[in-house]
Amino acid sequence: MKRNVLLMGLLITLSFSSGSNPEQNNYKGPIIDMHMHTGLFIKVPEGMPAICRPEPCEGKGGAIVNQAELLKKTLEIMDRYNVQKGFLSGADWKEVQDWKNAAPDRFIASPFILDPKGVDLEKLKAAYEQEQFEGLGEIATQLSGIKPNDPSLEPFFQLAEERNLPVLIHTLGIGPEMPTFRSSAGNPLLLEDVLVKHPKLRLFVENAGFPFTEEMIAMMYQYPQLYVDVSTITWVIPREAFYDHFEALIKAGLEKRIMFGSDQMVWPDKIGAAVEAIDQAPFLNYEQKEDIFYNNAARFLRLNNQ
Ligand SMILES: [Zn+2]
Repeated sequence: MKRNVLLMGLLITLSFSSGSNPEQNNYKGPIIDMHMHTGLFIKVPEGMPAICRPEPCEGKGGAIVNQAELLKKTLEIMDRYNVQKGFLSGADWKEVQDWKNAAPDRFIASPFILDPKGVDLEKLKAAYEQEQFEGLGEIATQLSGIKPNDPSLEPFFQLAEERNLPVLIHTLGIGPEMPTFRSSAGNPLLLEDVLVKHPKLRLFVENAGFPFTEEMIAMMYQYPQLYVDVSTITWVIPREAFYDHFEALIKAGLEKRIMFGSDQMVWPDKIGAAVEAIDQAPFLNYEQKEDIFYNNAARFLRLNNQ
């Protein structure tokens, strides 16, 4: 009897001290979304479920393809989750401008680059002169099978370094199912040539190079200017696979250089899904959440001259 009472007391103490209340750590502060799009670069039918990995799997949510509706819903969800700013790119550069004009304080406009040969560099330089864009990328040339250290990208990195632009690049093992996509063109070690050549380049890597965890850690240890986002992997792969990769980076001590993203494309609900995936990570303390949701991006973007 006495033993039972003792045991009960111990259990009560444990349940109070272990932080088992999931509400306890809920993040309530501002958020910067470092990875947003005005849509997809291929046409998809209205209502199409979100992509998911690994196949076979079932994606949730329905695509919104009408631009006006997608912008409205995106802003609505940004407000709901206190997402104050988004790094925004799109294959249709005019759409990026439209979104920026509709909500100038909310978006950092940036051109999406799929094929470097298809870009008129002089026109792009003029767009920066006219302050139409404040960032570069997503550089999604891996989708065209082009490695990040390919010479065709050199003028873009040079331009970004000269203009001091934040640059988002898709360098990881997974991407859209396209005949030209190459996983082998996504090893983060391929960024080394770029980082050596452009030491002032403000580069951040989509999905923290998933699933090349060790290679990404090596690059981040060696090149302190390199940041990452955790975006699509917050919702496109199983939660445990995301947490394994994410926790490895946290354990490696990199929490000051990981930034939140949603990779919103045509499924704006994924902004909320991405926020919740980070907020529910059992290995993060509140301070780390503040860094990942806001402080790291504010520093990287040099908001308020930080
Ligand atoms: Zn993206």
